[in-house]
Amino acid sequence: MTATTEPGPRVRRGPRGHAKRAWWWARHAVADHVGPVLAPKVLRHAKKLPSMPRVLRSRYASPKRPWQLSAPDLPARLRGPAATPRDEDAVREAFEQAPLRDFFRANLDASGWLQRGLWRCLLPVAPRLLRARKAVRATTKVDPTPSAATPDPDELTRRLKDHAAEIGLSAVGVAAYDPTYTFAEYQGSHVGDRVVVCVLEQNYASTQTIPSPRAEQTALSTYAELMERAAKLAELLQQHGYRAHAHDQEGETIVIHYGEQAGLGQLGRNGQLLTPEAGSRCRISVITTDAPLDLDAPVDYGVREICDSCNVCVRRCPVGAIPSTWRPHRGVEKSKLNTKRCFPVVAQADGCAICMKVCPAQRYGLTAVADHLARTGEILGKDTDDLEGYDWIDGYHYPPGRRPQISEEFLAMEGIDLDATPTLPIHGELPARPAGGDERPMVM
Ligand code: SF4
Ligand code: SF4
Repeated sequence: MTATTEPGPRVRRGPRGHAKRAWWWARHAVADHVGPVLAPKVLRHAKKLPSMPRVLRSRYASPKRPWQLSAPDLPARLRGPAATPRDEDAVREAFEQAPLRDFFRANLDASGWLQRGLWRCLLPVAPRLLRARKAVRATTKVDPTPSAATPDPDELTRRLKDHAAEIGLSAVGVAAYDPTYTFAEYQGSHVGDRVVVCVLEQNYASTQTIPSPRAEQTALSTYAELMERAAKLAELLQQHGYRAHAHDQEGETIVIHYGEQAGLGQLGRNGQLLTPEAGSRCRISVITTDAPLDLDAPVDYGVREICDSCNVCVRRCPVGAIPSTWRPHRGVEKSKLNTKRCFPVVAQADGCAICMKVCPAQRYGLTAVADHLARTGEILGKDTDDLEGYDWIDGYHYPPGRRPQISEEFLAMEGIDLDATPTLPIHGELPARPAGGDERPMVM
């Protein structure tokens, strides 16, 4: 692989670029008419429609193999904290003053707007997504009969992980429940003190086409597969006499925290869980349960040191929404994304996700990136078009050193105010847990 620090050739536009551009304008011209049809109350009837034939789904199907995870033998220079550093007092104080909010529920207008922007990605997947969401919600209605025999936690955990591999999940881990990561709307709705984290790898080839409708359909389809399998895993725990509630793709909690606590990856600068096998090219959901499962522990995969040497997502984000440093936010030392800049791009650019596409951990795997950094002091693929280049929705290709010009008009969300942020103080007036919740848009 040849790396260069020179910017690539000037942005080009070919015949396909003109076609893409025309299609983009046509899509936006009809979006206003399609939007009302896609109102969540109407869209939920899509679960009665047949799913897309399997043969057509194969181009964005997830791989079936379970991951073989183990703690890497990192050289000293790549070692860092296994779990994201947090100031426990500051975390508790932030939680008591202003619990996290469910973004989609706190910003219903914005979420509806996002759904309208992604309608052509959503429609082909909607039947499966809705049926899968119904399956996970059904798990919350089961009240299993406690088993007379108390199983050995080791044995139960092993059975859980074996079953996860059999049904096609890429990885599962177990973490302790932490209320500070649960959205205010769902406080108290969990069961037990264990969280089973389910991870499903996303199709590799589709992901490399980001940003595209195909890639966004892949993300939504992966969520549908993940929810179907998470519901099956919850059923296993229920058959053993334990309560187990699977969450849907919008979630009730910050799943990345649990993924890290369960040793399945580490928080990257792009705000995503970087897993050893696929970086952030995976989808995550959780099951809360009162089953006495053995806890996993965070693992240092070298992500902090890799991100500090990399920063590719920071410079490739079209709107500069990713900060280049770790800073405390609500007591957690992380790289907090600028939602006001990111959200309009996600809604109008087929889900965007450039920050996933250009991440070397996604492209080459975390182990290969860590080995390369340890041997050469360089980030694998950095400065190459192979890693950093992407085709934007305007039909242009943007190599390293070039980014699309995004206008303020593009970023403006008329009539929508994201200031109903998920961190507004609502202490003392927590809304009741929504029943059913089908009015929430199905996005992301
Ligand atoms: S999704 Fe797109 S706009 Fe948002 S942070 Fe990632 S690259 Fe930036
Ligand atoms: S692109 Fe680089 S800096 Fe960004 S999350 Fe991936 S490894 Fe970290």
